[in-house]
Amino acid sequence: MELPSESKEDYLYWKHHQSGRYSVKTGYYFLCKDQVIDNFSFSTKSENFTKIIWRLNILPKWKIVLWKLIHDGLAVKVNLTHRGIAINAMCDFCELDMEDSQHLFRFYSLAKAVWENSPMTFCHDMTGFPSLRSWIQHFILLFYSEDGKHSARITRLIATLWGLWLARNKRIFNRDEITIATTTELVNIALKEHEVFTGGTTDKSSTRAGIGWATSGHNQSHTFDGGGRYGTASSALHCETWACLEAIKWVIYQGKEEVLILSDSALLLENLRSERGHDISIVWMIEDIRTKAAHLRICIISKVKRDQVQQANDIAKKCRCTLSNLVL
Ligand SMILES: [Zn+2]
Repeated sequence: MELPSESKEDYLYWKHHQSGRYSVKTGYYFLCKDQVIDNFSFSTKSENFTKIIWRLNILPKWKIVLWKLIHDGLAVKVNLTHRGIAINAMCDFCELDMEDSQHLFRFYSLAKAVWENSPMTFCHDMTGFPSLRSWIQHFILLFYSEDGKHSARITRLIATLWGLWLARNKRIFNRDEITIATTTELVNIALKEHEVFTGGTTDKSSTRAGIGWATSGHNQSHTFDGGGRYGTASSALHCETWACLEAIKWVIYQGKEEVLILSDSALLLENLRSERGHDISIVWMIEDIRTKAAHLRICIISKVKRDQVQQANDIAKKCRCTLSNLVL
């Protein structure tokens, strides 16, 4: 080390950053840098993974929990102690290990049982994952490569993580008794609240139209949820807008509070985005959609490819051809 040629006053120096100054930012850099080296080999994969997460058609609250999970930022007991909160970090469910993310979401008896009972066939207890992040990343990338962006397995994986987290909080904060059955039920509720497809068809030679909507049906019993109507419409756009409106009414009637609606009509989305729908034939329906959607806590309408709303389109076609309503 270089020494000064004459005597100097002492001063504080933070050796972990070139600036020599300690701040929250340079302190954070110091804490993260080893982690960055650990994850270095994953970096390209990680980048893809991050992009995939933000692209998934899932509820925003799920994205946020997933984001926190992969950055190990959820308030599990071990993380709370890292933040300086003096609590006993032992898992109070099994009292066999510390409550960190890996324990809570993978290794403790209830989590294991929930994964084992899941209809998703995958090797959840595969070893070789040093962190929960690497485990989640591995399976999301795998499902994404095999099933694509709308992978039902990705949705179920995230819903299961979500259900485990809710179950843990109910157990700790509400002192609810949590079993495999109640946790599985929370997962199923999460899956059901999450998507509605809408679609409509018109008969080109007349104004006869049919509309349909259906939920993604991730539930184990494979029961159908949705409905359809027949009537008249002046255009395909008119028909799609009507389908969207009826789907929202149905969602409200079902007592759901959060919904992601998928439609294959780019024109509908364009009209919904503009201050007032430009197409005069649907102006009032668009306004109705906005008013109804305001009753929901979250309502997201997104454009998807036609094959994704196939089920709803099939219902719409059936209603149009048989002149019948399908109300469940
Ligand atoms: Zn435990």
